Amino acid sequence: MNSPTSPEIVVAGTGPAGLAAALDLARLGFRIILAGPVPRDDDERTTALMRPALAILQRIGVFDALIGKAAPLEVMRIVDATRRLIRSPVATFRAAEIGEEYFGLNIPNRQLNQALRAAVLARTEIEWRRSLVEGWEIGQDEIVAKLADGARVAAALAVAADGRLSPAREAAGIAVSTRSFPQSAFVVNFGHSRGHGFISTEFHTETGPFTQVPLPGRRSSLVWVVRPETAAELAALDDAALSRRIEDRMQSMLGRVSVEPGRQIYPLTATVPARFAANRVALVGEAAHVFPPIGAQGLNLGMRDISDLSRIAAENRDDPGSGKALAAYDRERRPDILARAGAVSLLNISLLSDMLPAQLARSAGLGLLGRIAPLRAFFMREGLQPGSGLASILSDLRDQIRR
Ligand SMILES: Cc1cc2nc3c(=O)[nH]c(=O)nc-3n(C[C@H](O)[C@H](O)[C@H](O)COP(=O)(O)OP(=O)(O)OC[C@H]3O[C@@H](n4cnc5c(N)ncnc54)[C@H](O)[C@@H]3O)c2cc1C
Repeated sequence: MNSPTSPEIVVAGTGPAGLAAALDLARLGFRIILAGPVPRDDDERTTALMRPALAILQRIGVFDALIGKAAPLEVMRIVDATRRLIRSPVATFRAAEIGEEYFGLNIPNRQLNQALRAAVLARTEIEWRRSLVEGWEIGQDEIVAKLADGARVAAALAVAADGRLSPAREAAGIAVSTRSFPQSAFVVNFGHSRGHGFISTEFHTETGPFTQVPLPGRRSSLVWVVRPETAAELAALDDAALSRRIEDRMQSMLGRVSVEPGRQIYPLTATVPARFAANRVALVGEAAHVFPPIGAQGLNLGMRDISDLSRIAAENRDDPGSGKALAAYDRERRPDILARAGAVSLLNISLLSDMLPAQLARSAGLGLLGRIAPLRAFFMREGLQPGSGLASILSDLRDQIRR
């Protein structure tokens, strides 16, 4: 598998998940063929990455390039802006409460992709073929990617980082269940006359959350989940009218708002595959999970996919695409991905639902989180890294017993 004609791992897809996967696997000494076009440079979205994901950016040599280009998230606030009978009090989460300076960084996608690309180009273990994969041949001992430039690339393992429609996933025979929601995310960045104090505020509305996330300076990004017809209407407004709509929605909390160029609309869907690896293919990023952009989960989960895959590949260095390695990966990722997908869908459905029990559950949950500090700390830690909330409670208990 180590001969020059048979590289060990082929990574399909050059979005953030593919670039990061190539870097993390190359760091462990694997030889990588990365297949996919140079990503477009017109994505005005931003991505909030939490500390565990930032630690991965650090170890793949990308973090330092982002300093000064991203804003720290020190406080996160949830405001119930529904007009429903049952409403929750404001829930505020401070990183300082769990001994952290900040939960994560809000990074412009363009800067993130540029930094990942530069790091990939600097690594000699990665050969980047700027070509789509047109087809796959899956054998007992290897998988062959047939590239659009005519080349055939054989490997022990294929990492499917080829996005939500993932042709590699399909070639591996992995079925998916997909669901569409009657919502779209309207995305725009804006400047404001008052400082944001590094606070992100999520207003829960009947059509979905309106989430403001700080950027460096007096700027913020916005993901506003609305009905598809409202998203089209917002996109058609002139700058002054759109700025007013945003300022009104935020009750002028950040003063005067002025929107920046670059509005985008994303229809909301959720996709979960039946398995996370099979037939020499392991799924990462949106090939492994798509859900509504609520609670900044997508790429954070994608980075955990990459971290688990790298560890398991290193433990199975002789054949990282073997049935044993892929079964371990599937076992490792399943609970994390299914729990996050379930939580995001539940929250979204409870917002959309006119049913009193759903509203009550959401309101009671947020109310409890707002009032009970240890519960809040548990959820904050779990939000950063699954298992760390529980680990922290156990460690506190051990300390108390010792005393
Ligand atoms: C509005 C919005 C806001 C979001 N905010 C956050 C956030 O704050 N925090 C967070 O963690 N996540 C967030 N997400 C989710 C995050 O953006 C995604 O998880 C992430 O972009 C997925 O990256 P990816 O590399 O898996 O997929 P993509 O970026 O879709 O990349 C897939 C790549 O595969 C390539 N490809 C496709 N077919 C082939 C082929 N046959 N051969 C080779 N290459 C192929 C494509 O060209 C593309 O480059 C948000 C999403 C949305 C929509």
